[in-house]
Amino acid sequence: MACPLCAEDGGALIWRGERLRVIRAQEPGFPAFYRVVWNGHVAEFSDLAAADRVHCMEAVTVVELALRQHLSPTKVNIAALGNMVPHLHWHVIARFDWDSHFPAPVWAAAQRPSPAAQEAAVQALLPALEAHLQSQLAQWATR
Ligand SMILES: [Zn+2]
Repeated sequence: MACPLCAEDGGALIWRGERLRVIRAQEPGFPAFYRVVWNGHVAEFSDLAAADRVHCMEAVTVVELALRQHLSPTKVNIAALGNMVPHLHWHVIARFDWDSHFPAPVWAAAQRPSPAAQEAAVQALLPALEAHLQSQLAQWATR
């Protein structure tokens, strides 16, 4: 069976390194929904060597910090599920107390309609966030 994360980036590519990439997911209602995707096909986090696990979580941290700095979210959610696509990826999601699912996980049932004005305000901050993220990741990768 073809793996979609081996075949394609899996979203809007923000940055690609040797071992992993960062993409923005297209998830309606969640404008600041990013994924750190391991480039190689591994299913479980513990399939990675220790140094790779550190590398992976450092990337998650860089993304989380960028979300905090640019968006001041109510909370950042990080999660690795992979039940649908068993190719290692971490979700890094800015959550807001006004979002359609808060305080439930993004995978739960919606609790209210998604407010278009607030969503658009977050959307407007993404170009600066992503430019910052690209430069942060490029610097980090060469350390
Ligand atoms: Zn794969």
